[in-house]
Amino acid sequence: MVRVRLRNPDRVEQVDGPMTVGELLDHLDVNPTTVLVIAGGELVTADAELDEGTEVEIRPVISGGAGAPRCVVCRAPAVIEEPRHRAAWCPTHFVDHVHNQVRKAIDHPLAGRPRERMCSYDDHLLVAVSGGKDSLALWDVLLTLGYRVDGLYIGLGIGGYSRRSQQICEEFAAARGARLHVVDLAETYGYSTPSGARATTRSACGVCGLSKRYVFNKVAVDHGYDVVATGHNLDDEAATLLGNLLRWHDDFLARQRPVLPATGANQVRKVKPLYRLSEREMAAYCVIRGIDYVVEECPLVDGNTGHEHKEMLNAVERSAPGAKAQFLFGFLDRADAFAEESRTGDDPVLGACGQCGMPTVGETCAFCRQRERILSTLPVLATAPAVSSSAVSSSAVSSNADAACDDLPTGSSHR
Ligand code: SF4
Ligand SMILES: [Zn+2]
Ligand SMILES: [Zn+2]
Repeated sequence: MVRVRLRNPDRVEQVDGPMTVGELLDHLDVNPTTVLVIAGGELVTADAELDEGTEVEIRPVISGGAGAPRCVVCRAPAVIEEPRHRAAWCPTHFVDHVHNQVRKAIDHPLAGRPRERMCSYDDHLLVAVSGGKDSLALWDVLLTLGYRVDGLYIGLGIGGYSRRSQQICEEFAAARGARLHVVDLAETYGYSTPSGARATTRSACGVCGLSKRYVFNKVAVDHGYDVVATGHNLDDEAATLLGNLLRWHDDFLARQRPVLPATGANQVRKVKPLYRLSEREMAAYCVIRGIDYVVEECPLVDGNTGHEHKEMLNAVERSAPGAKAQFLFGFLDRADAFAEESRTGDDPVLGACGQCGMPTVGETCAFCRQRERILSTLPVLATAPAVSSSAVSSSAVSSNADAACDDLPTGSSHR
């Protein structure tokens, strides 16, 4: 056994060894950044091995002790800690922290790139909302910070999941007197995500992602918005980065940015103001702000490589708090080099789609081609036996229902 003396308040625990200090703290549910660990009279780090018979002291280093951290701003009891920031906050100051991180993302998206400021108070923003925590939190933050921002919900036709998501978005908008655009994929374009996936060889997420990207841009262009904002958070972006690096998707790496400027007519800027904030921070923000969101995942998410990448990164984060942010921010600091390396010649010239007028490098845009394929096959499928949801599932990237449902930007490993 390892004998553990926890201080302030004092108690003694006997824990089965051997184990590392990190495992011990994990077992005791103690935040490593709030304590010192002393074994044999010496300070030890999280990776130190504790053999049977070792005596360990766990000494809190912030006022209030390991079990009751205090807000770094006002010293009131904290409700959330972030080892990455080596900080804890009361509800009020946690909300300030989230707002500050979004301000920082908007005003200084990448060091030394002032032209890539996400948006200004003159812009009219459209936030893509799915009913999940990230996009609704983003809408709330942007409204609170005083931006002119409306919402866009796309009805994907995924049964009760879509109905609940739409209802939550409508309630959110109504409670704040905000404008919400609703586009129903089936009513407007003749297919839903499940029927579109049945009609093509693409995954449900592939059909869905292309449709959403198209509709976000189309609605923004049609209604004169300057910017489309999506709720991708730090975990989403780091997982996408890992997936793109593991497969060396140079072209995706070159475009994985918090700001994607419009490069031609009928295109709007796309921004990710939550890229500095973790999934956990966004969930906490919703709870503190009383934002109701869809907790369940889209039923078409399956075989989820993004989820695996998130788990890998979480394992690293656990032993090295801040590693995930360093991974993503370090990449973004070097993003220009990736963009330069992947450049193989002149950038493709964007023209207008012959069918819908939206930007494309060919004669017909990918969305119109996909839609044509789906609509030509659907009447045949209508006479065939129905396919269950699970049979049309795909290899979506994220277990985060919101990220899966906000937007699948070019450069995402979501497919
Ligand atoms: S997981 Fe997201 S992208 Fe995939 S089908 Fe569901 S809503 Fe669409
Ligand atoms: Zn406080
Ligand atoms: Zn088109």
